[in-house]
Amino acid sequence: MLTHRKRAAHGFTLLEVLVVAAVICVLVGVLFAVLGAAREAAARTTCTNQLRQLATAVDMYRQQHGALPPHSYLGTRSTGEAEMITWQEILRPHVGPEDVFLCPSDPDTPPMSEQPVWDGRCWMYSSSYEYRQGLLQQERVYKPREDPEQEEMRKEDLRKANAAARHDILFICNYHDSGPRRAYNEKVRPRRYLLAHGDGSVTWEPLPDGL
Ligand SMILES: [Zn+2]
Repeated sequence: MLTHRKRAAHGFTLLEVLVVAAVICVLVGVLFAVLGAAREAAARTTCTNQLRQLATAVDMYRQQHGALPPHSYLGTRSTGEAEMITWQEILRPHVGPEDVFLCPSDPDTPPMSEQPVWDGRCWMYSSSYEYRQGLLQQERVYKPREDPEQEEMRKEDLRKANAAARHDILFICNYHDSGPRRAYNEKVRPRRYLLAHGDGSVTWEPLPDGL
């Protein structure tokens, strides 16, 4: 009884205050971690959709021009200044007005409204994504032939071509899975990458050997 009255008179003990403060700190930490993870999950979903659009745009370009878009070529502006025409500009007509070249988790690349940027030699657009120009040279449309043996071979060729296309990487995003804090230009090698493939699929996996 006596202790109770004493405590009521003095409010909380120092120990109680410290314990409560520690608990609040832990809860806030957990909350931030959860919010950060949720934000990153949403960013990855957006990024996946963008990469899918870009892979589709490459396919549209390929159908129109019979070849993959070049990575870049040097042009000249009306002002006489050099301009690097990069794949972003080449693909722009195929992706609509949406800005699909920036990963939401990319802290470095300027928004498209602030592009192109002068890099000291020429004007150029940049993107969060690395364009790999996969090799989509094989015809992937199956056309039946009369000779059954030849048809078997063609089916096998088609299966191989589709398997190759599946691993044919067009775009890479490396802004995910490298820890929550990314300092400017910090070289952190992510464990997994978002990869856009030649068949339009996007996967979340470690980079295959040799890339
Ligand atoms: Zn991304």
